Amino acid sequence: MPTDERLYSYCAELMGSPILLKLYSHDEALASRIFQLIKRYEDLLTVNRAQSQVMSINHAAGQHPVTVSLPVYALIKCAKAASMAQDSAFNLAIGPLVKLWRIGFQGHRVPSAAEIAERLPLTRPQDVILDDEACSVFLAQAGMEIDLGAIAKGYIADRVRDSLRQQGVSDALINLGGNVHTLGNWSVGLKKPFAPGDALIGSIEVASQSVVTSGVYERYFEQDGKRWHHILDPRSGYPLDNELDSVTIISANSLDGDIWTTLIYGLGVVKGCAALRHHEDIEAIFVTKNRDVILSSQRNFRFSLLDDSYRLTGCTA
Ligand code: ADP
Ligand code: MG
Repeated sequence: MPTDERLYSYCAELMGSPILLKLYSHDEALASRIFQLIKRYEDLLTVNRAQSQVMSINHAAGQHPVTVSLPVYALIKCAKAASMAQDSAFNLAIGPLVKLWRIGFQGHRVPSAAEIAERLPLTRPQDVILDDEACSVFLAQAGMEIDLGAIAKGYIADRVRDSLRQQGVSDALINLGGNVHTLGNWSVGLKKPFAPGDALIGSIEVASQSVVTSGVYERYFEQDGKRWHHILDPRSGYPLDNELDSVTIISANSLDGDIWTTLIYGLGVVKGCAALRHHEDIEAIFVTKNRDVILSSQRNFRFSLLDDSYRLTGCTA
């Protein structure tokens, strides 16, 4: 637990985010191996630099397929499947729109409707052509760009979990800029949207689960009296706009947590609760703009409310 005096914390700045590893033993060498592992995966998956395996695919858009390593291929295949699901708000080919808005980066702005309309046809997930045998990815139209920003941290958090397990670690927590993964029993804070510092709405008790939060308060800018945040609606090309301030997913794998935060963000509370009824291993905590905290179920976690300006409820629909 975070207050335990036997706890050792190791920090790094990777993937544009603060990374925190908590262990029950003092082991600099282990922490350093874990940070190296994260860096190696970041080097493969990033789209925020000129070079990476994903950037090689993007540079060859409309020209030729690019053979990539098996983990990158497997992740893209999984991301394409999630993008092709009916009414999915998740889209791995959203890159041209992300680059247009630049939310969370220098030069962000609200694009014109014409600019958005121009890029929408370049974001079709079915135009990401996969070849299992060649382990290659081809973007069928020039100007297309894959963006794994919504799931890279989840995928890497799962690899960290695997590596810790293989090294015989039974109690550890990794926080990859908001993607938390745990081995053993931990209490994870649920952040209060738009509040300064470390203000929490509540705490989430889990055992060897992933806890992923996506919120409109994480990366946004204000223009024309409106807040523009970083999760885009692939149908409209504008940030998803609904009753939610944040969604937290509790699941065995952080990749699922990452995909589901985006899916749920697109569905909203009522449809999100309905969708989760068919997925018992995926659980959600919705935080709405009117300060409702809605739990889809509580099979693999316990939630304690710490802020009485919020109301705690379950899914009713
Ligand atoms: P964070 O990195 O803050 O945890 P998320 O996991 O919610 O954020 O992912 C947001 C990132 O995913 C954006 O910055 C962008 O790169 C990408 N993205 C934005 N909209 C979508 C979408 N509809 N589908 C897939 N990826 C998206
Ligand atoms: Mg995510």
